[in-house]
Amino acid sequence: MRIGRASALTDTGRRRLQNEDAFVCDPPLFAVADGMGGAQAGEIASRLAAAALEERALELRGAEAVAELVREANDRIFRHALGDPTVAGMGTTVTAMLVDERAGTIAIGHVGDSRAYRVRGGELAQLTADHSLVAELVRSGRLSPEEAEQHPHRSVITRALGTEAQVEVDALTVSMLPGDLYLLCSDGLTSMVRDADILALLDAAGGDPERGAGALVDAANGAGGEDNITVVLFEVIDGEPPPSELAAEPDAVTAEQAVPGGAPQPPPTAPPVRRHGAGAGGRRLALAAVVAAAAVASLLVWWGIAR
Ligand code: CA
Repeated sequence: MRIGRASALTDTGRRRLQNEDAFVCDPPLFAVADGMGGAQAGEIASRLAAAALEERALELRGAEAVAELVREANDRIFRHALGDPTVAGMGTTVTAMLVDERAGTIAIGHVGDSRAYRVRGGELAQLTADHSLVAELVRSGRLSPEEAEQHPHRSVITRALGTEAQVEVDALTVSMLPGDLYLLCSDGLTSMVRDADILALLDAAGGDPERGAGALVDAANGAGGEDNITVVLFEVIDGEPPPSELAAEPDAVTAEQAVPGGAPQPPPTAPPVRRHGAGAGGRRLALAAVVAAAAVASLLVWWGIAR
């Protein structure tokens, strides 16, 4: 089996001034990163994450390797922030899928509240678990899924790339089947559009990734578009992986060059990974907690040394 058509779309939404989401739609690598931080910082963080993935993903195989690459991206963003006070505390989510067409598997590395979904047999399955405050409250039984949807702090994440020296990365491998459709998205989609509606829209698009991506972004904007919206969609079809794809260069795909599946990519005209930025919204709360914790930690260290 092999990757069929693929498409990606990112949109600033209706409320934000900038788009801080980033994506990679470069078969066999697909990823979404949702940046946070003031000014341009979130945009920088998500772009650094996407670039770090694109640089090395094609040398890799397996979920542990993808997780290690995500940890490298964490290190890169963290060190960048240490060297530039204007972007201190910046961070990003990342959900990455690396497809192994020969093995029929997809390796997933994941941090934060962007999501990976699979549509198979008319059902939508969320493959990743959100690292968010409300998701943890739901998992511990202190909040119902319905309450979580309305929670004022539903965009607060509990794990991010780049905010600390170390990050815990979820690594998982899933088996794929011909006919599967995979979706990666930022919370700008899932906070606006329910799972049942996502499935219905993808159904109505007849499994066409490009139409599906457009329909999902339109639906999120139609529901208010309160955050940046990014979707990456690809299908799995019968057939041998084309040799050209196996040897493909990791060239970048921009939003304007949304991928016609399997066809050779035009040479990129934009910088390697073009992604954008927007306001931090509820993320600021988590960010403030991280900054405060770091300040307290350094005070304690100083206090220890001073004594
Ligand atoms: Ca977001």
